[in-house]
Order: sequence, then C-alpha cells, then structure tokens
Amino acid sequence: MLGAGLAGVTSAWYLRQAGFEVEVVDRQPDAALETSFANGGQISVSHPEPWSNPSAPATIIKWLGRADAPLLVRPRLDPALWRWALAFARECLPTRSARNTRAIAALAIHSRDCLRALRAQLGLCYQQRTAGILHLLRDHRELQAAEQRMATLQQLGIATELLDRAGCERVEPALAADPDELAGALYAADDESGDARQFVQELVGNARDAGVRFSFDTTVSALRIDDGRAAGAWVATPDGRRRLDADAVVVCLGCHSPALVPGGARLAIYPVKGYSVTVPVVRPDRAPQVSLTEESRRIVCSRLGEQLRIAGTAELTGFDLGPNRTRSAALLAWFEHHFAGVARIADAEHWCGLRPTTPSNVPHIGAAALPGLWLNTGHGSLGWTLACGSAQCLADLMTGRQPRPDFPFHR
Ligand SMILES: Cc1cc2nc3c(=O)[nH]c(=O)nc-3n(C[C@H](O)[C@H](O)[C@H](O)COP(=O)(O)OP(=O)(O)OC[C@H]3O[C@@H](n4cnc5c(N)ncnc54)[C@H](O)[C@@H]3O)c2cc1C
Repeated sequence: MLGAGLAGVTSAWYLRQAGFEVEVVDRQPDAALETSFANGGQISVSHPEPWSNPSAPATIIKWLGRADAPLLVRPRLDPALWRWALAFARECLPTRSARNTRAIAALAIHSRDCLRALRAQLGLCYQQRTAGILHLLRDHRELQAAEQRMATLQQLGIATELLDRAGCERVEPALAADPDELAGALYAADDESGDARQFVQELVGNARDAGVRFSFDTTVSALRIDDGRAAGAWVATPDGRRRLDADAVVVCLGCHSPALVPGGARLAIYPVKGYSVTVPVVRPDRAPQVSLTEESRRIVCSRLGEQLRIAGTAELTGFDLGPNRTRSAALLAWFEHHFAGVARIADAEHWCGLRPTTPSNVPHIGAAALPGLWLNTGHGSLGWTLACGSAQCLADLMTGRQPRPDFPFHR
C-alpha cells in the first residue's frame, strides 16, 4: 500500500479484513500528515455535485482576478494544468456533470454506511458529530436554486429539507447572532463531521492490532515491474534504499499518484490547493455545533471538540504549498463576521493542502492498466466523505466481488 492518508489507511484496513497481508509505506513520520491533515471535516453526502458543472465556467469568470476569490487560477506554463483545465471544461457539459454527480452520490451514500459500521465496530472517536450539515442560503435566488437541488438529491437517494431562518436557528442556535440576511438552508440531517486526521490515526492503531505493517519515513522512488506485472516498489528509508516485494501494489499517493503510475498522465490528477484555519472556542454557548457550508463562498465550518475548523478556497497553482495569508484571512474574516468573539482568532492554526482532483471529480478506484497495480486515488474535495466506501469497494474488486455502488470502477 503506497500512501498513508485517508485513502491508504482505509484501504489497508479493508484489505486486511479481506484476508490480505498488508504493508503501508509513507514518506512522512506518521499517517495523515499531508492532504488528510486538517481538512474541512465534513462527511458531505449532500454535496455530490462536481466542481465541473454547467455553472462552473460563469462562476470562474466572475471570480477571475480577485485575490480572495473562492477559486483562484494562476495561469502558468504547465502542460499538466492546461490538459487538466481542458478536460475540466469538457466535464462541465450537462450530461457529463449529471453522470458524474450520480456516480459520486452512489459512492458517498455507500461510504457513509461503511463509516458508520466501522465506527460502531471499532468504537472510533474522532470528534465526530452526527447532527447533519446546514447549507446556508443567503438570498432568495439561492433559495430557489436549492429547491431544484433538493429534488435532484432526492432522486439520488439523498434526503434534505429546506428550512427558513427560524428553522435554521432551531437546528443551530448559534445562527441567531448571525448579522447577515439568511434566507434559509438546505439541511442534510444524515450528514456528519469529524476530524479526519484523528480518524486515520485511530484506524492505524486498529490496523496494526489486526496485523497491518506500517513503514513511515519511507519514500517510494519507483514501482518495480517484473514480467509485465507490478511486483513491488523501490523505496528510500533513513537506512538506505530497499526493495519491497509484493503480489499487488495499491497506489494511494494523493496528488503524487500520477508520478508513480506508468502512463500516470492519463489519471489527470491535479493538485487543487485549499486552506483551513483551526481556532479554539472561547464561547461554547455561542459556537456552532452543526457543520455549516456557506454556499456562495464555498466555505465550510465544523466543530471539532473544543475547536472550530473553517476551510475552503481552491487555488490552481501547481504543487506550491506556500502560505497565502490573503486566502486564510478571508476564511477568518468570514468566521469573525458571522460568529464574532466565539473563538480566539489570535491562536488560529493555519494550514493548506493539495486536493488530488480529477477533472470530473470522480476518483480512480480499481485495477490499473498494469497487472498487479491497483488505484484508490483522486478524491479531490470529497476524500473524507468517500474514504471508507472507496476502500471497501477496492477490497471487493481485489477479491473478485461486485461492489455495491453503481460507480465507474476501473476493472
Ligand atoms: C482545505 C481542504 C478542505 C477539505 N475538506 C474536506 C471535507 O470537508 N470533506 C471531505 O470529504 N474532503 C475534504 N477535503 C479533501 C480530502 O482532505 C482529500 O481528498 C483527502 O485528504 C485525500 O486523501 P489521500 O489519502 O488521497 O491523500 P493524502 O492524504 O495526501 O495521502 C497521500 C499520502 O501519500 C504520501 N506520499 C506521497 N508521495 C509519496 C512518495 N513518493 N513516497 C511515499 N509516500 C508518499 C503522503 O505522505 C501522504 O501521506 C479537503 C481538502 C482540503 C485541502
């Protein structure tokens, strides 16, 4: 198993349960230290719509040139970026976008069921909350669009309800102090939230007990191919270069997956940078408990124990992981405006990560073209939501079983 983020550790767990001997390698000293480190925390089954949808081109143009825009594209001489952007534009076509939405919804529903079952089985604690997600709608126009969205979600088997402001405040009393107009919210009561990193690290403990081996500080430099089959990997460790032998290799390297897969350019996974800030709560009586999504700004806010995590923004700037204070400041400004004095902003922890994003937002799960090589990667903005289901389906595929969701698995 290459990679110990959400995708790698969940895959290791389900493969071990299916009877495989599993070794997980990762270049970091522990699990979930890259993109799975401090995400928005949402298990957001109610948001299966891909970023590539018919309204995306107009939205992107509207935001062009604004340093605090939810989506920022820095045009650069990067062929991978241009290839990805062209493919993204194609996926915005209504029929493609609708097909991708159906696939993501099916996998997300299955994934939430898997997460719940795993939590119950192992007694995992990761600051989870099961009070749903409120998608906040600021004006009449957003409210009208939400009516159509609710009907679409219903057809996909995802239950939501439209609430007016009073209804929102009943679900989340902290919204009573929000100074802005709030036309209502689309409420997905079955959605959840929780700390992805804590989940992964708890699962590592359980996986170890179940016999999974973890090799950290181990960088994969190349796949080993023997007789036309994936046969392991070459890795660099603090003690030198070593050869890993395996009957099957699973790639869960997030944005770095294409670099290690033969013909990886076809995976079309591009890093889409996002930011989060985590702030300590100082007024628990006024802090939101229910996870929130500010629809117009693409900002999410999740309560993680005594902290609040605010996350969002998308930036196409390659693999650059440098901080951009304007982007984090926009998240904090949103939070302070709506929940003034609820958290200690001076102690905010800033983070950014690279979402491994395909043009369609549909991840690659299943057999790669090379025999013996398997993929579970490219989960983009929904890697936490889709983690358990993707991994469980991968285990089904690797043991010759038919996975439950109707999804375009690689076979
Ligand atoms: C700001 C932000 C907010 C988000 N909010 C949400 C949310 O609310 N809900 C949701 O569902 N999703 C959310 N996501 C998306 C989610 O976090 C990602 O999809 C998910 O973390 C991807 O997991 P992964 O395991 O594929 O990648 P990673 O977590 O990056 O794991 C890949 C692993 O591979 C290792 N690796 C890479 N190269 C090598 C190498 N050569 N050798 C050895 N190891 C290597 C890395 O160290 C890393 O541990 C958010 C993402 C961001 C950035």
